[in-house]
Amino acid sequence: MNLDKITQRYFNLFPGDFSGNPMQRQTPNFLFAQTEIYGYKNAHLLHFNQNLSEEIGLGKIENQEDTDFVNATNLPENIKTYSTAYAGHQFGQWAGQLGDGRAIYAGEIKNSEGKFTEIQWKGAGATPYSRHADGRAVLRSSIREYLMSEAMFHLGVPTTRALSLSLSGEKVARDIMYNGNVDFEQGAVVIRTSETFLRFGHFELLAARNEIDTLQKLTDFTIENYYPEIDKNSENKYIEFYKKVSEKTAEMIVEWLRVGFTHGVMNTDNMSIIGNTIDYGPFSMLDEYDLNFTSNTTDLPNKRYAFGKQAHIAHWNMIQLANALFPLIKDEAALENVLVDYSEMFWKKHDEMMAKKFGFEKLERYDADFFTSWQKLMEEISIDYTLFFNQLETLKEDTNIPEHFKKCFYQNINSNQETLLIEFVENYKQRLSYNQISRDESRKIMQKANPKFVLRNYLLFECIAEMDEGKTDLFDKLWLALQSPYEEIYPEFSVKRPEKYEGVVGCSSLSCSS
Ligand code: AMP
Ligand code: MG
Repeated sequence: MNLDKITQRYFNLFPGDFSGNPMQRQTPNFLFAQTEIYGYKNAHLLHFNQNLSEEIGLGKIENQEDTDFVNATNLPENIKTYSTAYAGHQFGQWAGQLGDGRAIYAGEIKNSEGKFTEIQWKGAGATPYSRHADGRAVLRSSIREYLMSEAMFHLGVPTTRALSLSLSGEKVARDIMYNGNVDFEQGAVVIRTSETFLRFGHFELLAARNEIDTLQKLTDFTIENYYPEIDKNSENKYIEFYKKVSEKTAEMIVEWLRVGFTHGVMNTDNMSIIGNTIDYGPFSMLDEYDLNFTSNTTDLPNKRYAFGKQAHIAHWNMIQLANALFPLIKDEAALENVLVDYSEMFWKKHDEMMAKKFGFEKLERYDADFFTSWQKLMEEISIDYTLFFNQLETLKEDTNIPEHFKKCFYQNINSNQETLLIEFVENYKQRLSYNQISRDESRKIMQKANPKFVLRNYLLFECIAEMDEGKTDLFDKLWLALQSPYEEIYPEFSVKRPEKYEGVVGCSSLSCSS
């Protein structure tokens, strides 16, 4: 591996705390703190993402030094580790300084095209930002992040990625349901990568501390590196930046809705400044379509982060970012305009995406009514989101409609529901007939918009149970399936969630404990 090519640009660019003090604490005036890596003695590499490693310029694992690096055990001299400080609004409340509590950066690697990628271990031990927690991660949540972030990448959704999965060799105490029942679980470390891990919360922290010089420096750095399309000499660059972030964020949410992803913890500290899906915790892919579905047990009372509320929450989070950038932009009206435009922009992108899912050549004005009738159908009948669109695509002229969709239902349907479904499908065929393109071409549009494989929670649940016993068969199969989600590699994955998993924690709902 090209470990010697890893550098730490932050060290020269931003104010950092180099005291080496491992105490958990506030770090005013600093954007990051240099941290020592704890180093697990009995770590064991479980899986390595070779393709990603080549792509970002790290190359192959060739010797013990490389394995040690991946396992966060022993690091070469040039790798100086650090964690960053950020703040955030959690569940609608200002939470002050949070920071990388269990993420430690190795730095950045540059590939042959000159593109930088940040590398960090998650679960490699405590940092100054661990806030009374242990800085560790359990195997269960690490498998989820490792597989899901790659699944999202192959689905075409903007996301951070995962390079490796290791067992730390240590046991970690967790109270999964927060009810006093502590269990010891296997500890694990994931290396994740992203063009940047900067979050809304980094900007919020600097604004809240009134560290405007650093805020400006960080914003300039972000524009120059991640938004090169913005003219860095323009006097409007900061509002342009805000506009672009709002666009990227809207695009990310549209993609989540397309594939049926519920993030579960859309706090502002979990919002990437480049519109990447970040921090895989109690996420879930939809089984049955339900706008009110929330995957996070901590979120159950208010369902703030429910599947169908994600666009609205992203908008709320954008307001917090507006407040953070205000000292640079100083133009309330301009910021408000972007926020007003967000809704229109989001719905336009959303409806265009939906039109593709249905195989429409282009979005028409009257489609709004069609989408509403679809929503009504999905509210009326408990239908699997992914399978529904797969079945819609294979619909033929003489198909027996209730029979054709049977595999998507979570309950037997009554005659009224059957009528509603038949009417909807007839209506849909009518709408399809307005296409100027052939049915085959329309199908191709659908095949690109509708995955055949999604990484459902119950599959992760089964995979985790197997991995806990040291078996990797299902993991290996999922790893293959998730790389070609628009094909059917394993027919056994093209089924709805089995009945036995209904309401089972880990399959339909998850806690934040990780
Ligand atoms: P999350 O809800 O996962 O986005 O985490 C919110 C904050 O808690 C972030 O600052 C995390 O770094 C921190 N955190 C979560 N789990 C741990 C842990 N096991 N040890 C230290 N910090 C953690
Ligand atoms: Mg987080």
